[in-house]
Amino acid sequence: MVKRVLITGGAGFLGSHLCDRYLAEGYHVLCMDNLLTGRLENIEHLFGNSRFTFYHQDVTNYIHIAGTLDLILHFASPASPVDYLEIPIQTLKVGSLGTHKVLGLAKDKKARFLLASTSEVYGDPKVHPQHETYWGNVNPIGVRGVYDEAKRFAEALVMAYHRTHNVDTRIARIFNTYGPRMRLDDGRAFPTFLRQALANEPITVFGTGEQTRSFCYVDDMIEAIYRLSQSNYPEPVNIGTNKEMSILHFAHEIIRHTGSTSKIIFKALPKDDPKVRQPDISRAREVLNWEPAVDIPEGLNLTLNAIKSTS
Ligand code: UDP
Repeated sequence: MVKRVLITGGAGFLGSHLCDRYLAEGYHVLCMDNLLTGRLENIEHLFGNSRFTFYHQDVTNYIHIAGTLDLILHFASPASPVDYLEIPIQTLKVGSLGTHKVLGLAKDKKARFLLASTSEVYGDPKVHPQHETYWGNVNPIGVRGVYDEAKRFAEALVMAYHRTHNVDTRIARIFNTYGPRMRLDDGRAFPTFLRQALANEPITVFGTGEQTRSFCYVDDMIEAIYRLSQSNYPEPVNIGTNKEMSILHFAHEIIRHTGSTSKIIFKALPKDDPKVRQPDISRAREVLNWEPAVDIPEGLNLTLNAIKSTS
């Protein structure tokens, strides 16, 4: 029997890479997306595949899927701060109402459920690096709270369904990820810097650029999510790279690798922008036997090659 996986947010950046991966693993992939921030061009190469089905649907509404489901990967949500500041209510709804609908479906179908959670559950962290046992430092009424609290609620709901209804659940806490198929206009640091560098335009570093992030290449991320979905581990698992760098350094890396003549300009730091972020990945190493393998120069080359081949 061919296994069937539902991927919500399947036309998004991570969702579309997951569609590719689970098709390659022999699954029938049911991809659901309302195309609010996802894009059909991320999945258009899959429409000829008989094991691929697309549903243009908002997961905050009632979901009906005919037949069996073995696995649900819940990746529907805006994920760029610019996007979720523009559509705060949809962001809250997909994390709360959407997660509720999809968990109900998992319960009904007796499917395993994997939540795409986020490093944002740690907020502006007071513990560094962030281990899964840290409860975080989130401003619930701040502008970023719409995403952070929706994902924190989603985690709470997943654990409640796990404990109360015995739904077989997994939680991936996803840290900054980059690679092909990010929308170059989504406002996040990586696609923005890349777009600016390729056009030899000024690179807009927010604040002093001393704030740090740890950027993981998408292939490493997808491998870890796949392994988590095949594991038996119900507690949250951080997934990301532990190679932390300042945003200013990251901007310089992008300029160097693209051979750009762009200069750096400084703009105001957005509100509640976390000062540091680096996952403690000891749990992922142990549970998933996984380690990120792609460094920034290689990841940048892979991304640039993918952009060249599609333009
Ligand atoms: N950032 C920046 N310039 C930009 C976009 C983002 O300096 O044009 C900074 C942002 O303030 C943050 C970091 O880069 O400190 C990463 O931002 P991103 O939006 O990629 O995601 P976040 O990690 O904040 O969710």
